[in-house]
Amino acid sequence: MSSIFARIIAGEAPADIVYQDDRVTAFRDINPQAPVHILIVPNKEIPSVNEVTEADEAVLGHMLVVAKQLAQQEDIHKNGYRLIVNCGDHAGQEVYHLHIHLLGGRALGPMLQRRD
Ligand code: AMP
Repeated sequence: MSSIFARIIAGEAPADIVYQDDRVTAFRDINPQAPVHILIVPNKEIPSVNEVTEADEAVLGHMLVVAKQLAQQEDIHKNGYRLIVNCGDHAGQEVYHLHIHLLGGRALGPMLQRRD
């Protein structure tokens, strides 16, 4: 069964799409954790980093180029931003369609929740 992201890419589910080409789609996260929270998703259905192969190298690189362009478009490139890729249960991955979170627009704090 297709993930919700596959349906968004196909135009079958609603989303605030900010960029789309033949390789990637980017849309605003439905539950934003920062003023700018965009998901950059390969159009090809790759469940997670665990399923990435060498054949995906070009699209994975393209996702970073799009992330940079969107950071400029959203005017967060000067102050800085964070890119996150969750993989699997311990990382809390919710949607098994590989994606990069682009987060910015405020100071984002420590990279990981402190345990002490
Ligand atoms: P992850 O935990 O890395 O798998 O992140 C999944 C992200 O997808 C979460 O931040 C969700 O808020 C977001 N999300 C889930 N469904 C949608 C949707 N229909 N449109 C936009 N973002 C979504």
